Amino acid sequence: MTESEVPMAILKVARLGHPVLRKTAKEVSKAEIKTAEFQTFLDDMVDTMREYEGIGLAAPQVHRSQRVSVIELPEEGSARYPNQPPTGLQFFINPKVTILTQDLGRYWEGCLSVPGMRGLVERPSKVKVDYLNREGKTAEFVADGFIATVVQHEFDHLDGVLYVDRLVSSKNFAFDQEFERYWLPDAEDGELPE
Ligand code: ZN
Repeated sequence: MTESEVPMAILKVARLGHPVLRKTAKEVSKAEIKTAEFQTFLDDMVDTMREYEGIGLAAPQVHRSQRVSVIELPEEGSARYPNQPPTGLQFFINPKVTILTQDLGRYWEGCLSVPGMRGLVERPSKVKVDYLNREGKTAEFVADGFIATVVQHEFDHLDGVLYVDRLVSSKNFAFDQEFERYWLPDAEDGELPE
């Protein structure tokens, strides 16, 4: 079979309330990273993330309690998060985050495990990530601004934490439709009202 003939696999996404989302995920060994089964799993995570137009996906969200996240802000912009700079496709295995600034960034976050909703969350605006890439090699990534929020959101999943645990206020939590109708029109220069 050539690569183009490998069928896509869209994995089932666990939703808020499923216990797998609340577990602490296990580290992945370098030996496991190199297996064909694990590499196929990484490809399936990418297919699943793209199918649901997410910009990140963590393994616990697809019922696999391991410390793995995939992130992609595509060149052409994301349907759910336009106007954000591209990251390309990134695989983070066993990531460790170091906070680089006390400055906080505020963004309206969404999550494929909490479908149809948005909430305002505050997080450190610059972080360093030490991780293993899909070849099992150590690597480092510095994330600034919106991407810093994305990686922290994804890595929270590996510790059983969801963005709804970190809302600035339960008043800053809305369905997508209401968010677009009542919050977005008041946005000035990309800054959203609070
Ligand atoms: Zn999420």
